[in-house]
Amino acid sequence: MAETVSMEQLVSLAKRRGFVFQASEIYGGISGIYDWGPYGVEFKNNLKTAWWQEMVYQHTDVVGVDSAIIQNPRVWEASGHVEKFTDPMVDCRKCKNRYRADKLADLDTADLAELSAALKDTKCPNCGGALTEPRPFNMMLKTYLGAVEDTATVTYLRPETCQGIYTNYQNVRDTTRQKLPFGIAQIGKAFRNEITPQDFLFRQREFEQMEMQYFVHPDEADKTFARWKQARMDWHQKYLRKANLRFREHGAGERAHYARAAWDIEYQFSFGFKEVEGVHNRGDWDLSRHTQYSGQDLSYFDETTKAKYIPWVIETSVGVDRLALAVLSDAYTEEEVKGEKRVVLKFHPDIAPVKVAVLPLSKNDKLTPLARAVWQQLAGRYNSEYDETQSIGRRYRRQDEIGTPLCVTVDFESLDDQAVTIRHRDTMAQERVKVAELDRAISDQLKSF
Ligand code: ATP
Repeated sequence: MAETVSMEQLVSLAKRRGFVFQASEIYGGISGIYDWGPYGVEFKNNLKTAWWQEMVYQHTDVVGVDSAIIQNPRVWEASGHVEKFTDPMVDCRKCKNRYRADKLADLDTADLAELSAALKDTKCPNCGGALTEPRPFNMMLKTYLGAVEDTATVTYLRPETCQGIYTNYQNVRDTTRQKLPFGIAQIGKAFRNEITPQDFLFRQREFEQMEMQYFVHPDEADKTFARWKQARMDWHQKYLRKANLRFREHGAGERAHYARAAWDIEYQFSFGFKEVEGVHNRGDWDLSRHTQYSGQDLSYFDETTKAKYIPWVIETSVGVDRLALAVLSDAYTEEEVKGEKRVVLKFHPDIAPVKVAVLPLSKNDKLTPLARAVWQQLAGRYNSEYDETQSIGRRYRRQDEIGTPLCVTVDFESLDDQAVTIRHRDTMAQERVKVAELDRAISDQLKSF
């Protein structure tokens, strides 16, 4: 977390610079739902690519899938979501406001008796009215599939992406000839009817997850869990400051119904250390339940040892939007340059929405053809922007604010010496290079961040 950045500053920058907009804004918005703008979509895609490269391309034993959002409703019975995917909720008897009981009590537990005791003397924060007893609220979004709306056609928008991995476990094994241990990764939308969506991208009702499920022999589960837990922390440290990250183990009352071990990787947001990723040892819960509910035997037969068993699952699960908020918070920097405030998003170049901006010194018929040619040379290799409006100083500030690592300036001398200036976002140092050597110079400078 930058010392100074507040959520209001981030929301305002995200909107002003076209990262994130409120969904349906012209109709007054819709609670807990956001749209991603031109820079936002690049930024988010870069985060997803970075994760995919790390989790899939760097491991011969991890493959990807892209499963459907709507599954057979039996999937959610087997997974326990129909019965247990609940948050404890209380209502105000007077103003009817609804609250998450655990958040109101500031207790990391889902135990209703414990919450009831903790909230015994608590009144509604809005109007001071009396609160109901805590009760479970199912967070799955329901819809109907087909022309008839009745209980037989109820389906759900998936509240997590991993169930589509378990239901494809056998297909993937059959088609890729993976032997245990191996993992399946997926990136996709998830939907939760959160009681109180809040903190901008942190708690939304529609969001994206990046999940990897690793299937192992039960005896290997603890060791594998420890390995992935550390690997995930190492990955976050590439994009987020180490001092703003920490592990937190879930207490017994807090653990999901399936979890044998659950650790969060937390980031220090302006509103405190909060989960960005969960790493879980799910035991044999998932494949046992799907075996039971589907009637398909999902156990594994090890040809070498002749042992037959239900694989255990080690899960790593991170929210794209929540991670994006952490990265934005971490990158946000305010500096004073020559008596003026400069706002810079100090993104790692891999995730910066624009890598290079080509800026002719001024809008001028002589400069434009060369500047366009320089842009053309970079376009396709890097997401590069071309901008010739406003003063050069204002254009630098604009690129700083969207986190563009490098600006290439084309000036009148360039017409004679066929050289341009590369400006470094963080140091603001400038280097003169020949246009013919620009590709190499850009690639070297991007590595210097
Ligand atoms: P929380 O306790 O904050 O509700 P959770 O423990 O329910 O989160 P998981 O079910 O473990 O979260 O989901 C994995 C990841 O998905 C989380 O670490 C988070 O990054 C992301 N995530 C979960 N719920 C939301 C949400 N409502 N909005 C945005 N991201 C979310």
